[in-house]
Amino acid sequence: MKTLNDYNFENKKALIRVDFNVPLNDNFEVTDATRIVSAKPTIIKILEDGGSCILMSHLGRPKGEQEEFSLKHIVSKVEDVLGVNVKFVENCVGAKAEEAAENLKPGELLLLENLRFHPEETSGDVNFAKALAKLGDIYVNDAFGTAHRAHASTTIIAQFFPESKCFGHLLAQEIESINKVMETGEKPVLAVLGGAKVSSKITIIENILDKVDHLIIGGGMTFTFIKAQGGQIGDSICEDDKMALALEILKQAKTKGVQIHLPVDVIAANDFANDADTKVMDVTQIPNGWQGLDAGPQSIKNFHDVVMQCKTILWNGPLGVFEMENFAHGTIALGNAIAEATKNGAFSLVGGGDSVAAVKQFGFENQVSYVSTGGGAMLESLEGKTLPGIAAILE
Ligand code: AMP
Repeated sequence: MKTLNDYNFENKKALIRVDFNVPLNDNFEVTDATRIVSAKPTIIKILEDGGSCILMSHLGRPKGEQEEFSLKHIVSKVEDVLGVNVKFVENCVGAKAEEAAENLKPGELLLLENLRFHPEETSGDVNFAKALAKLGDIYVNDAFGTAHRAHASTTIIAQFFPESKCFGHLLAQEIESINKVMETGEKPVLAVLGGAKVSSKITIIENILDKVDHLIIGGGMTFTFIKAQGGQIGDSICEDDKMALALEILKQAKTKGVQIHLPVDVIAANDFANDADTKVMDVTQIPNGWQGLDAGPQSIKNFHDVVMQCKTILWNGPLGVFEMENFAHGTIALGNAIAEATKNGAFSLVGGGDSVAAVKQFGFENQVSYVSTGGGAMLESLEGKTLPGIAAILE
């Protein structure tokens, strides 16, 4: 696996695919610079080597050239975060981009205009990729957030750098973290899968059964499993058409020697609302008019005990409706347990969508080993898929 450390960038122009798809407010100010901060180690290493950086990214989903999606809005934020002057060019290909790239000196940084102003980016057009490739000497992919897309700048472009392409620090870290869980993790390995629906996690569950010793299933997914086993779940969220699959998963887990842990009790509510009446109930005996919205106290205790036994932990998906304060306790307790296990030496990876939001919201970000920067890319990795952006560097 080729990384930045395999290259000396002195007098080289690095063409870096970053993920600067950051949120902007109505005044076009960056409201969360995490993605820019995440790319900093790669950019600084190249500049310190005596190279120059040409950054390419998308922003939003523009239909053609739409000013509101221009990357010019983020220039000052990139300068603040990196502490480096940023040159900006209002196209990512063509004469102006080529001239700006040509004039770039060692230690300088150039940001190209939004790649998605050209539909050829997302269609993976070879000629567009070739036009981008003209701009740099070494191609660096540091955009995990788009590594699951076979777009021109994330995948197709790599063929024009057969001997001079590598992963940036961020993407390398993402790959190593996933490998640590899925391939080389110290046993016992635990996956915690929460969130709303079995249907969106099914491929992950099937893939992960071959990798883990313990699987905690929580959140809204719980009830499809409980009902399938004959439990009474009241008005809790359930996918009736996935009940057979849930039973099949339980059977497969048994065959593979994976211990599945489901909640035994829940915080049930008489409405899907933060101020609803609540009661702790047995997960198999929820009457009509009530729905389970969070893990109950005994479940939290059981999950804590499992987490503390494990040396490698993957967490994807909340244990309850954490957006509502009264149903966030299970998710917070799980975060605390994973933080404690991490302190004791376990490796913990949080990835994919809402668990990342929960970890940030409740301040666990620095108490786990790694928080993934890619939603869809992380989910596809956990499903066992080879991401095209990663494969293109490895080829
Ligand atoms: P996902 O994107 O699949 O990880 O699902 C995350 C969503 O699942 C969050 O918005 C949670 O509010 C929701 N969720 C978690 N537990 C429950 C539950 N018991 N009932 C309904 N929704 C839930």
